[in-house]
Amino acid sequence: MSHFYLTTPIYYVNAQPHLGHAYTTIIGDAVARWHRLLGEDVHYLTGTDEHGLKIQQAAEAAGLAPQAFVDSISPKFADAWDRLDISHDDFIRTTELRHRTGVQQLLQACYDAGDLELDVYAGKYCVACELYYTDDDLLPGALCPIHQRPVEYVEEENYFFRLSRFQDRLLDWYAANPRAILPEFRGNEAIGLIRSGLRDFSASRTSISWGIPLPWDPKHVAYVWFDALANYITAVGYGADDDRFANWWPVDRHLIGKDIIRQHCVYWPAMLMSAGIEPPRGFAVGGFLLMGGDKMSKTSGNVIDPLDLTLEFGVDGVRYYVLADTAYGSDGDFTYEGLTSRYNSDLANNLGNLLSRVATVVGKKCGGVGPAPRADSPLAATATSAHEVAAAAWDDLQPSRALEATWSLIRATNAYLEANEPWKMEPGPAVDSVMGDALEALRIVTLLASPALPSTCQIIWQRIGLAGDVGGQRLPEAAAWGGYPGGLTVTKGDPLFPRK
Ligand SMILES: [Zn+2]
Repeated sequence: MSHFYLTTPIYYVNAQPHLGHAYTTIIGDAVARWHRLLGEDVHYLTGTDEHGLKIQQAAEAAGLAPQAFVDSISPKFADAWDRLDISHDDFIRTTELRHRTGVQQLLQACYDAGDLELDVYAGKYCVACELYYTDDDLLPGALCPIHQRPVEYVEEENYFFRLSRFQDRLLDWYAANPRAILPEFRGNEAIGLIRSGLRDFSASRTSISWGIPLPWDPKHVAYVWFDALANYITAVGYGADDDRFANWWPVDRHLIGKDIIRQHCVYWPAMLMSAGIEPPRGFAVGGFLLMGGDKMSKTSGNVIDPLDLTLEFGVDGVRYYVLADTAYGSDGDFTYEGLTSRYNSDLANNLGNLLSRVATVVGKKCGGVGPAPRADSPLAATATSAHEVAAAAWDDLQPSRALEATWSLIRATNAYLEANEPWKMEPGPAVDSVMGDALEALRIVTLLASPALPSTCQIIWQRIGLAGDVGGQRLPEAAAWGGYPGGLTVTKGDPLFPRK
């Protein structure tokens, strides 16, 4: 069975989960569900990033020990993902023993390779970024270019990772793997960073204690990025279970935000190369979900709790908006009006209305029993092409395009019903043909939309009389025209998406 390993970034537990975190996690969930439909053995990983100075400071501010502090926040992420129907296979916390063991093995491997060397660092450091900056990087007044607040002058003895040695190897690797970074324009950005020259980076700290100690020099703890990135390998057995690690690594896609390209697409493959581990097969770089043009963040004070939105629009309403409204890779702009309008037009008026019409007419004209479709239905070609376009789009990590293709089949089926007006026909073979075609189109829509709307699609699946779990079907066979057997009881039920 082919494997598909997919990850989100692990989320920093200095804040509560917000819609920005949910955005990437929902994208990953839908992609994971698509690959399960393809019959692949999927491993979808998320988790929380729990070490570093910012956490140590946040814990002090909250009057808690760091471990107690992270223990109070991490479950809020796990709970949010449960409530958003996220089907992750594992949730890693960087304070777990399995992670600590694996990080120490990775550090030791890079040290043994000669790529971690002791040196003195003196420079400007932004606590919020956990990054050193040169004077050229800083804004006037020695401010962090990201946070626009003063950086600190820090002098300490650090182990440096010799990133500068990896420029050619990274460029060669990306040249040999042109689809490694999607979308392509983000790949060009990463390659630009590598071409512009790579500086060694400090990979340890002696000034803080909340972290993972270097195995050969325990007064140093690992720099947060060195620690955090390693979650992708420690979660699948690196340093503990060689067979399991060989089964899942290299990862198929790391989903990341555009602000962490440097760490993921430059630092991380170099760290792995140093340790003798294969680089990731690929990355998918998302833009930000903005609010009024600003990145959603704790410091900007513009955070939206996705769970609040689900109370009004349902879990699938929120998932659909996130997946359909923005082309993955570009920035999206969240607005309440945009969410309402998408919900009403695509979910209530298109999908909800199609199910309601089909169930009503089958109830009145077919005795409540769904007829079989015609092999030569005019909708068959539309369904085939919707499936092909959607499959290619999911493969390209473009859920919005996949859903657009799926909704084109919904619109075509509604138009087909309007053109044939089965509600005006007498019961008999003519109305049976039209309704069999519509039911079959709806069955295929349900399959194709199920990664985005898992619980709603399961309800539709059952209402049109089909047994089992829609997510347990196998593509491409299940989406071939003619799968609806006919003779099944069709149930109307309550509206799936009441208009707002
Ligand atoms: Zn900063």
